Amino acid sequence: MQENLQTIAQPLVRWYQDNKRMLPWRQDKDPYHVWVSEIMLQQTRIEAVCEHYYAFMQALPAVSELAAVEEEKLLKLWEGLGYYSRARNLKKAAQVIMEEYGGIFPRTYAQLVKLPGIGQYTAGAIASICFNERVPAVDGNVLRVLARVRADDKNVLLPETKKSAEALIAAIIPEEAGDFNEGIMELGETICLPNALPLCNKCPIQGQCKAYAESLTAELPVRIKTTTRKKVQKTVLIFESESGEIAIEKRESKGLLAGLYALPNTDSFLSEAQIKAFSREQGLKAKDITFCKDTKHLFTHIEWNMKVYRVKVADKNTHYTWCTAEDLRDTYALPTAFSKCL
Ligand code: SF4
Repeated sequence: MQENLQTIAQPLVRWYQDNKRMLPWRQDKDPYHVWVSEIMLQQTRIEAVCEHYYAFMQALPAVSELAAVEEEKLLKLWEGLGYYSRARNLKKAAQVIMEEYGGIFPRTYAQLVKLPGIGQYTAGAIASICFNERVPAVDGNVLRVLARVRADDKNVLLPETKKSAEALIAAIIPEEAGDFNEGIMELGETICLPNALPLCNKCPIQGQCKAYAESLTAELPVRIKTTTRKKVQKTVLIFESESGEIAIEKRESKGLLAGLYALPNTDSFLSEAQIKAFSREQGLKAKDITFCKDTKHLFTHIEWNMKVYRVKVADKNTHYTWCTAEDLRDTYALPTAFSKCL
C-alpha cells in the first residue's frame, strides 16, 4: 500500500501546478501572507476570507504592524470571521516573531509550531508552502482524499486516524513539498468533494484510487461523531433583593467554568415549592417567584438546558455576592451561560 500511495505524489504536484486557483495569498510564498490566510481559513468560507484578507493586508501589511496593532483595530479587522481568539493569537505570535526572531519569520516546522495559535497543521502548511520543508499538513480535505484513495474505512474524526494519515503523508512527500501539500488539499476542495459528490472523471489520481475502483466513493470517508453531549437539566435562579441587587456566587475552582461567577443554580428542574425550599436552605425567604425563560447553553461535551426564575427575596444572605446592574456590567464577569439568563 505504501508503494501504491507513493504513486500519487507526482501526479498531484503536476496537477496542482497546472490547475491551482489563483487565490490572493498565492501571489507569492510570503510566510506572513500564508499564515494569516491559513488562520482566517480555519472554520470560515473561502469567499469570506478573500474579502477580509485584502482589508487585513492593506491595514497591516507586515508582521511588525500586526505586532503593534491596537486590539480594538485588530478585532474590527476580524469582524465577521468569528473565533476572536484566533486574531488575538495572531498578534501574540507576531510579537514573539518581533522579539525572539528579530522580525524575521521562523522557517522551520519546529519553530513555527511553538508560536501562539499555530498548531501542527498550520506549522506544516507554512513550512512546506513557504520553505519546502517535507512535513505534512493534514486537514479534513487530505483525510478525505486519503480515505478514498486507500479505501480506508477508519473514522476520520478520530485523532489516531489523523496521526496515521500524517505518518503516511510524511513518508511520501516529494521535494516539491509545498505543491504536494497544497495539491492534495486543493484536490479535496475542488475535485474529491465531500458527501457523494467527487468529480472522479476530472481526478488526476483516479487510476490509483481504490474507492473509485471498488465503487466506494459515496461511502467514504467514514465520519462518526464520538462526542455526544451529556444533557444536564438546570434551574437558574435570579435572586433579587428589595433594593434590586442580584445574587451571584463563585463556582468551585475545578470543573466547568471553574472559579468564575455564576447565578445560583441546581442540576435539576425545580418546582416552585422546591425553589422555596432551596431558597430557605440558602437563608433566603422567597416572596415572589416568576418563571422567566427556557434557555440552552452548549459546552464541548455538555449541554445545559436551563429554566430561569426570578425570585424576589425579603433579605440578603452572606453566602452570595449581591451586586447592582452596574457591578455586573463593570466589575463581575458572568460567563455567557449565565449572562444569557439575565
Ligand atoms: S478518484 Fe474520485 S474518490 Fe478517488 S481521489 Fe479522485 S476524486 Fe477522490
